[in-house]
Amino acid sequence: MTSWRTPLGLAGAGAGLLAWAAYHPASQLFGPTRRRVEPGELALTFDDGPNPAVTPRLLDLLARYNVGASFFLVGRFVDAHPDLAAEIAQRGHTIGNHTTTHPSLVWQPPARIAGEITACQDSIERATGGRPVWFRPPFGYRGPQLNGVVRQLGLSGVAMWSKTEYDWRDEPRERLVRRLGHVAGGDIVLLHDGSYREQGADRHRTVDALEHWLPRWIDGGLRLVTL
Ligand SMILES: [Zn+2]
Repeated sequence: MTSWRTPLGLAGAGAGLLAWAAYHPASQLFGPTRRRVEPGELALTFDDGPNPAVTPRLLDLLARYNVGASFFLVGRFVDAHPDLAAEIAQRGHTIGNHTTTHPSLVWQPPARIAGEITACQDSIERATGGRPVWFRPPFGYRGPQLNGVVRQLGLSGVAMWSKTEYDWRDEPRERLVRRLGHVAGGDIVLLHDGSYREQGADRHRTVDALEHWLPRWIDGGLRLVTL
């Protein structure tokens, strides 16, 4: 009576494992990704910009503390605001590739993935004069085909994160401040200065929370680094 249960159970476990590999930021099953920096270092990363409603204020805050960060830009937003993308680069931050239209890439064929990445590389190069070396997939979702495509296009690899702060949630600033208290040396932190859905998204809460934490992290001896 149990003979049919075992294979089903195994199939279920297999599907669960594949889902974990595709959707969990820590998974290395579909190839290695960058998730940490050195102990004592902290890397802030901002996705889904450039966003004229928030990015300039964030850049001013980072400049006030003389720290660098990494910005994973959406190609179509770069095309809309090339000057802002250029300013991010001029201020010494790292710019990464976050596709041009922000689709989930899990089920996309390699040619479509390559098209998304290349179009974003081209937009960023037109705006800033440089081509990113790090790629971050939209939503952090990866299929087994992704790493090969990224390397084929000459990028260094896929950069994920070790801490996500859920700063897209509509919740009080204090909750985000509290969550950021878990950040420690070695972390790559996922934050957002934009929204993939639209330009002009309100991410001031994220900047507010960093205004609280940046001086504390620096006083605590953490060195803020770019990827
Ligand atoms: Zn994104």
